[in-house]
Order: sequence, then C-alpha cells, then structure tokens
Amino acid sequence: MDFNDIVGHQRIIKNLQKAIERGHLSHCYLFEGEGSLGKKKVALAFAKTLLCKEEDLTPCNRCKSCLKFDSGNHPDLILIEPEKGLIKKKLIDDLIKDMNKAPYESKRRIIIIDDSHDIGIEGQNALLKTLEEPPSYINIILISHNSNNLIPTILSRCEIVKFTPIESEKIVNLLTNKYGKTEEEAHFIANFTKGSIGKAIALCQSDSFFEKRDEIIQIVGSILQGDKTKIFNSMEFFSEHKDDYHELLDIILYWIRDLIIYQETRDSNLVLNKDKIPLILNIPNLKLDRINGIIDTIIETKQNIDRNVNYQLAIETMLLKFQEV
Ligand SMILES: [Zn+2]
Repeated sequence: MDFNDIVGHQRIIKNLQKAIERGHLSHCYLFEGEGSLGKKKVALAFAKTLLCKEEDLTPCNRCKSCLKFDSGNHPDLILIEPEKGLIKKKLIDDLIKDMNKAPYESKRRIIIIDDSHDIGIEGQNALLKTLEEPPSYINIILISHNSNNLIPTILSRCEIVKFTPIESEKIVNLLTNKYGKTEEEAHFIANFTKGSIGKAIALCQSDSFFEKRDEIIQIVGSILQGDKTKIFNSMEFFSEHKDDYHELLDIILYWIRDLIIYQETRDSNLVLNKDKIPLILNIPNLKLDRINGIIDTIIETKQNIDRNVNYQLAIETMLLKFQEV
C-alpha cells in the first residue's frame, strides 16, 4: 500500500511529499473532512513513507520497515481508534508515556488517532500538553470528520489538512475498472455517495443495494398511484432495513428528484437512475407542488428519526403523507 493506491487527494499528497523533501514536517497534523473520503488511507501511506528505510517520498515497499508496516506490526506506528464511540483517557495517558520512548527501528515514531473527536475533554487536555512540546521524533496525525469536538487549543497546534469529496469521474473509473460495475451503476453510486469513496466501495460490495433500490422504487410508485394497502404491506421491508434509514430515504429522494428533473427538462442525461429511464417515461406527470411536498416530507422524516421519533410511526406517517400532498 502506498500513495499510488489512493484515489484523488493528489494536491494533499503532493504537499505532504514536499514537506518531507524540505524537511518541514509538522509535529501534529489534523486530517479533517467528511467520513469515508480516504483520510486514514492517506495518513497510513504518509506514515509508511516516513518510516521507510529508503527515506524517499514514497515507500519502497521492500525494506524491513515497509514489510513490517504492511503486516500491521511496525513498532514505530501507533494507531489509536475509538471503541464504541469513545477514546478513553487511559488510552491517551498510556500513549503519552509510550511517546517518550525513542523509535525502535526507524528514525521517527508516528501516531495516528482515528476519529480523534471521540477523545473526551480530559483526554484532549492531557494530549494538549504533549502537543505543546512533543519529542522531536514524533509525528501525530489526528483524523476527524467532526473537528468541532476538538478543543480550540488542540486545533491551533495542528497543521490542518482539509479533505474534500473526490470527483465523480474518478470514482466511476474505479468502480467500473476494479469493481466490475456498469457505467450506469457506477454513476449512480458515485452521485449517491457524494464523493465519499469509502461509502461508494461499500455500496459496490453490497449485493443488496440495487435490489433495495428496486424495491423502494416499486413501493413508492404504488403509493404515489394511490395504493393504500401498499403503505401497510411495505412496513416489513422498512423495518428490515431500519439501520439504514438514511440510505433508504436518500434512495427515495434521488428517485423523486429524477422524476421532477425529467418531467421539467425531458433530458434523460440529467437522470441519475439511468437504468430506470424506461420506467420514468411511463410515470404520469406529478404536480410540482406535490413533488415539493414529498421532498419536504422525506427531509422532515429523516430529521425526526435522527431525533429518536419512533421509526415505524415516522415512516408510516411519511408514506401516508405521500398520498395526501
Ligand atoms: Zn521501505
């Protein structure tokens, strides 16, 4: 694994390599940006480069250090991750003690803290002291998709590296070349996951994603045509996928979006569910007010479930409203 395995983020990688070349490494980086963009992958490739015996701008993938890194046993890499959404203070205390030990094999020791926003305030304060005067051989990479949870004094001591969503075309290329998806499927997934490559790959590897989408489209179609029994008959399906409610509701949103876009423009290039164009052609026009009402209802339902409103009730209410609006 090295920088070549990373899709996108070329500017970030170049800047990190420039810092290595000039010997201007920061003691603490914050890799910040939405989830599943590849922040951890870049952090690992960067760490591997810094530990490699060849001391080049990219890992050699052959030296003892690179081999140990790949096997997950490099003594100079410390990777910390939350357990059940929390990084305990004890873990940070142990880390601070451990940091004072000189490198075992390489010239540096690299600490990666994934989801660093999951460190509690006490832990953050403890870590802060180390960030003020870290041992010279230490580089810390904090990763976060929610850096608002980090105390400002930590942020001010980090070099912040902002990760942005990956261009759709790059994701489409990856999904068609490496994951065997059709162009249509790859386009849909790339749009649906909005540049989050990790999510795109996860959807690709799930056998049921497109089946789920087909079923939802069918359910929504029947309900829009006034089939009341479908609302109650479909509750089992919605219950089954309760944990993925964001995904389910987003699939409906994308579908409704396609209906309105096609209805207004008659341009099938703008449709995201491209394989469903024959179906879209056969759907009678819906009033604009009604479509807008449906979109509002979906967004409201998502927020209600986020706020712990009873899931079953929220979904049922939403489907009933689909017929009323
Ligand atoms: Zn190497």
